Amino acid sequence: MSEGSLTVGVLALQGAFDVHAAMLKQLGAHAQLIRRPEQLGGLDGLILPGGESTTFLKHLERDGFFETLAAFVRTKPTFGTCAGCILLARDVERPAQRSFGVLDVTVERNAYGRQIDSTILLTPTSIAGGPLEMVFIRAPKITRTGPEVDILASRAEAPVLVEQGHLMAATFHPELSTDTRIHQHFLDLVSRYKLQ
Ligand code: GLN
Repeated sequence: MSEGSLTVGVLALQGAFDVHAAMLKQLGAHAQLIRRPEQLGGLDGLILPGGESTTFLKHLERDGFFETLAAFVRTKPTFGTCAGCILLARDVERPAQRSFGVLDVTVERNAYGRQIDSTILLTPTSIAGGPLEMVFIRAPKITRTGPEVDILASRAEAPVLVEQGHLMAATFHPELSTDTRIHQHFLDLVSRYKLQ
């Protein structure tokens, strides 16, 4: 299936949404910025971008958005990056907070040093094409993965890019690198689920 027939939303309440949308368009998909729960209908997949997960949760309290999104991520391809990964996680620590609980991982917020810490690393990955550049900004750490979770890349011992059925999550910001392989990997997943 060609990317041109895929419509992928990017949650645009806060954070790094426009760069994700630009990357999806660059790869040939239709990108839609999502600001209200009723816009989720008709999407083939969704990206939950980085930002501040507590701020996302505040915005999602309105108009039943949290519940509508919780139902969406249970069955539809969704890629959570950084704060988006925190929203998808089954368990959130430091501090504990509400999440959709669909991705069988435990995440610790702001786990790599101080709140302002950012790092760029070149990290091996099972995605073809060699190591990936990874931009970490106040990143969460995945401290536990369940048996259904595939680890696509790790930083030291901690998984940083994972996949579980229709879900993908990264603790870094793939949209801030020029390498499009991670977004392409997600579009391939979206396309497989659309064909089912
Ligand atoms: N520190 C943020 C949080 O805990 C995540 C940072 C990010 O998305 N870059 O929600």
